[in-house]
Amino acid sequence: KRVKLVIGNWKMHGNRAVNAALLDALVAAGKHLPAQVRVGVCVPFPYLGQAQSALECGPVAWGVQDLSGNAADKGAFTGEVSATMAVDFGATLALAGHSERRNLCGETDGHVVDKARCALEWGLTPVVCVGETLEDREAGRTEDVIGTQLAALLEAFDVAALRQMVFAYEPVWAIGTGKSASAQQAQDVHAFLRARLREKDASLAGISLLYGGSVKPGNAAELFGQPDIDGGLIGGAALVADDFIAICHAA
Ligand code: 13P
Repeated sequence: KRVKLVIGNWKMHGNRAVNAALLDALVAAGKHLPAQVRVGVCVPFPYLGQAQSALECGPVAWGVQDLSGNAADKGAFTGEVSATMAVDFGATLALAGHSERRNLCGETDGHVVDKARCALEWGLTPVVCVGETLEDREAGRTEDVIGTQLAALLEAFDVAALRQMVFAYEPVWAIGTGKSASAQQAQDVHAFLRARLREKDASLAGISLLYGGSVKPGNAAELFGQPDIDGGLIGGAALVADDFIAICHAA
């Protein structure tokens, strides 16, 4: 049985006051969240301590949106934040390779592998994001692009390491656009990813695969109802407590 997961990615949003209200609402909702769904939020680095204080006694996990891929857990790496620092604040989740980091910060598949390795080494669950642009999709390159992004991980890690990971399919054209992939489009890519994972090793078919890109309360149940979709990575709707909680209930 695959683990169901709903993770909020706050991106570069929030402040102490706004976060406090959102975290309070998650704490209040925590007792009633469906037991079979793991819920988490990935917050900006400065607010990790705030997330920890608010969430540490409840079921909602917290984590980071990025981390340093340097093998060293400390050193002269100005501006970087290590996996150990995230763990120091109780984080258990680390996004790696979000398309905004690939596209805006020049992260390559090699960087994503390094970041996933650091996360695993310090006990964080890497949530590795893959996805195609609209141009890729229209040119019929969706599986090529996603297959290449996934292959970097499949080549770099052994089966035991891969089994600790979660993957998120986030079509770039669906992120923050209000235009989700259709349930069928998302399911097709998830089935492709799962087949690639199964080819490497049968046990990898049990990895949780999340969909991200304009998930809302109104489309979550249909997306999460697809056979190969195990939950979601939620951007904008994760900033609105009622919407995020409704999405968690749809998983
Ligand atoms: P939106 O839900 O705002 O489209 O963002 C999705 C996303 O990028 C989550 O990581």
